[in-house]
Amino acid sequence: MTDSYNKYFDFCPQCGIEQFLFYRGRKYFKCCDCGYEFYFNMAASVVAIIRNDKNEVLFTIRRHDPAKGMLDLPGGFVDPGETAEAAIVREIKEELNLDVCEYRYIMSSPNEYPYGGFNYHTLDLVFECTVSDQENIAVADDVSGYRFINLREVNADEIGLESIRNIIAYLSEPEKPEQ
Ligand SMILES: [Zn+2]
Repeated sequence: MTDSYNKYFDFCPQCGIEQFLFYRGRKYFKCCDCGYEFYFNMAASVVAIIRNDKNEVLFTIRRHDPAKGMLDLPGGFVDPGETAEAAIVREIKEELNLDVCEYRYIMSSPNEYPYGGFNYHTLDLVFECTVSDQENIAVADDVSGYRFINLREVNADEIGLESIRNIIAYLSEPEKPEQ
């Protein structure tokens, strides 16, 4: 019923008793004494597929852990109150200084994102994006570099996060129109 996640949340925030248990299957914490429940909700994030004129995909290099120095796709977490569409435009501007002029939703991919000793559950929403001028790329934020790679040549072992590996595997299937 409970697992090791619970060691980070020992005390009930309502009554303070040390019996605040994580019900993983039911996705929330519950106090054994006062019954207070805290839902551990999944976070939404957005991922961009940006291609150059050779149909290569823009991969970013992760500046920070988890998976520092490994390949990633541009994107990030959706802010509270923000749409996924606004988030993809904002993140691509922040990370790459590129202006998204068109986007098309493709798929979603669940992920577990370890941070601060905790595994955050996320759902990556993938958009194929067209940008106004690829010459303007300037990496910033949590990106330390970028590479354009043909999906047929990308090494999955160089991709840091499982959800991104799953997205690339999906896009690399030969029957997909994106390929
Ligand atoms: Zn309580």
